[in-house]
Amino acid sequence: MSLIVQKFGGTSVGTIERIKNVAARAIATQQQGHQVVVTVSAMSGETNRLVALVEALTPSYNKREYDVVVAAGEQVSIGLLAIAIEALGGKARSYLGWQIPFVTDAVYSKARIQDIDGEKILKDLADGFIVVVAGFQGVTMEGDVTTLGRGGSDTSAVALAAALKADLCDIYTDVDGVYTTDPRIEPKARKMDRISYDEMLEMASLGAKVLQTRSVELAKNYSVPVRVLSSLEEGTGTLLTVEDPTMEKVLVSAIAFSTNEAKITIIGVPDNPGVAANIFGTLAGANINVDMIIQNASAHHETDMTFTVPKADFQQTMNLLKGSLQAIGARGVTGDTDISKVSAIGVGMRSHSGVAQKMFKALADERINIQMISTSEIKISVVIEAKYTELAVRTLHAAFDLDKGRGDSLGG
Ligand code: ADP
Ligand code: ASP
Ligand code: MG
Repeated sequence: MSLIVQKFGGTSVGTIERIKNVAARAIATQQQGHQVVVTVSAMSGETNRLVALVEALTPSYNKREYDVVVAAGEQVSIGLLAIAIEALGGKARSYLGWQIPFVTDAVYSKARIQDIDGEKILKDLADGFIVVVAGFQGVTMEGDVTTLGRGGSDTSAVALAAALKADLCDIYTDVDGVYTTDPRIEPKARKMDRISYDEMLEMASLGAKVLQTRSVELAKNYSVPVRVLSSLEEGTGTLLTVEDPTMEKVLVSAIAFSTNEAKITIIGVPDNPGVAANIFGTLAGANINVDMIIQNASAHHETDMTFTVPKADFQQTMNLLKGSLQAIGARGVTGDTDISKVSAIGVGMRSHSGVAQKMFKALADERINIQMISTSEIKISVVIEAKYTELAVRTLHAAFDLDKGRGDSLGG
């Protein structure tokens, strides 16, 4: 007998009909002889509705209270799913994050899981229950409700699979696997049968929302076998695996994009030791994740510094920097939210050159201007004007032959 964690996203539990389908699938899995834990998101649109209610009150809300509101969506879906399972003759028991508990830190709205107590779940499983657990939420040591950031149910599911030492974590969603790019932007995108944890990690952190980044990190660190598949049709989906040598033959495996970032430039920063530490220390203290930092040395003992932050943190970052301009000794700060980041990802880049040149040339041929560039071992990202996002994604997808069914292979 194996233990399987199944996660169903918002669309998959978006209507009563779909909740019945999820119930039937969980029961069928149990009848095949497995122990089944189901993690669900809120019904589709529900978390957005709750966020909008909060934002209608004030733009500078208290994040502890935000979490109290937005965690509510999952309470409804777990209860409905447990009722649906019982209506079909199964045995089910639902739990909120605090009931398990999913202990997290107190970084409200993007808390990190610290510990999961699997005891209650394991006992229920032994008693023949299908256990239904609310995704996206946890509780601090002090007993406050927290949420794990948008898309956080993926992380709940993988963390649960790791804690319970599950044999498999199936992430059911509204696409039938992980594609070479978002199939809603590029219809020629192809589904991958397998993807390495490292590539999936880059894809997620660079904007492919099919899996939350933290869920992939956990899957990799705890070697959780994760499959991404459709809740609406049968199929084998995409399996996250450790890298094998054949994967390196493909230069670029996928294109990702994000329109959720904003660009900030601090003008006239003194070219002295400690200045950068000071600036980014302030932002780290406010739990703001900074990305793509660019700084040039200058002949005049001062320089401009440009970096990106999540759009959600843009206003707070601008306020913090404006407040500390004097302390930093800089002359000013400007911001731009009208940008997007487009990235090419592939483990083949580790051992081969020429990808950057090919990427920049393809964008240049479409007259797309590059504002920032950053690279890692297995990815190249560029920041461009937001209106060119779709064009850039399609252009790069074609330039690296991702629509041809083999990737830009090196042969052999
Ligand atoms: P869920 O509600 O099930 O968590 P999400 O909307 O969070 O679903 O994630 C699924 C969506 O991710 C898809 O509908 C698709 O538009 C988007 N997506 C982005 N990049 C990719 C990709 N490379 N492969 C598959 N889906 C992707
Ligand atoms: N319901 C939450 C959200 O919409 C969590 C999730 O869907 O994973 O972000
Ligand atoms: Mg999601």
